[in-house]
Amino acid sequence: MEPLSYPLMEHFYTIQGEGANTGKPAYFLRLGGCDVGCVWCDVKDSWDPSSHPGVTISEMIRLIRESGAIRVVVTGGEPCMYDLLPLTNALRVAGIECYLETSGAYLITGEWDWICLSPKKFKAPLEQSLSKANELKVVVYNHHDFDWAEKNASLTSSSCRLFLQPEYSVFSKVVPQMVEYVKLYPEWSISIQTHKVMLIP
Ligand code: SF4
Repeated sequence: MEPLSYPLMEHFYTIQGEGANTGKPAYFLRLGGCDVGCVWCDVKDSWDPSSHPGVTISEMIRLIRESGAIRVVVTGGEPCMYDLLPLTNALRVAGIECYLETSGAYLITGEWDWICLSPKKFKAPLEQSLSKANELKVVVYNHHDFDWAEKNASLTSSSCRLFLQPEYSVFSKVVPQMVEYVKLYPEWSISIQTHKVMLIP
């Protein structure tokens, strides 16, 4: 039988730069394929899965082991377009922590140590996915996104951590609004893309 593979756009060992796990080293697996269509998407090359090579699970594990990483962040693209259970099963057997980054637009498959859901207006998240999130990370492009953030937060579990993150191209415009918002609604925290400051991927 052909070993199960996923289209892999890029992979690299780096530091998680944003959200609840900021600062933790992790091996990133960026799967190709996404139909969410965010206008400000900075990885549009990921959208077409056919433009990325299929890489087997065993090859991914070999790459992760070779790097010395103890955890993996599976991101995209939109990784939940695929059945991720075979991948997380194999990662767990290999003793690797499994973190997921998803828009929540598809059902979440797989067994995860951490699920970060970043909802996108262009294809709204499923309620079932929101209820599984350990972390909700809402990108703020303008002040309308605060309502969007609250709407999504109302569908998460009580233990879900809540983050607002400035869209990079409007950073200086939205950060002052975010600071005032978080002071008023302290259940939220601000997430900054620290990897861009550190000049790492
Ligand atoms: Fe880009 Fe992510 Fe939006 Fe897909 S969900 S369009 S990869 S930002």
